[in-house]
Amino acid sequence: MMLDTLYQEIILDHYKHPHGRGLRDPFDGEAHHVNPTCGDEITVRVPADFSDISYDGLGCSISQASASVMHDLLVGKTTGEIARIHEAFVALMQSRGQAEPDEDLLEDAVAFAGVAKFPARVKCALLPWMALKDAAARAGVDVTAEQVAEGTGGAR
Ligand code: ZN
Repeated sequence: MMLDTLYQEIILDHYKHPHGRGLRDPFDGEAHHVNPTCGDEITVRVPADFSDISYDGLGCSISQASASVMHDLLVGKTTGEIARIHEAFVALMQSRGQAEPDEDLLEDAVAFAGVAKFPARVKCALLPWMALKDAAARAGVDVTAEQVAEGTGGAR
């Protein structure tokens, strides 16, 4: 099977059967983000310890699948781990399809590597992740990766 086909099936599967969808209590921070170019919307809620990441939204398969993948990847992780995965995903999406994704770190999120080739769709994939960062900030947690482990940061 072609890798692109496999990636598309992973995205479609998360879109049809989203993991962890629905807004839940308790939470400490919430953020609502909109991607006007595509019409995607997402609301993300997090408790400060990331014991849950709940969300609800509407829009294209990429934006909604990205929220489902993000839920799977980040729930129960430490702030440091979340910052590291968040940075890796943003870097992958900004790679214009040139990056070799770290499958151990990103798991199903590697499926969005193909999306990175299409600038118009990158915002769709990043929408839930940006909302998560905002929701975390409102919960008093900074998931900006100043603590990213050696070797994965790169120059900027
Ligand atoms: Zn979209």
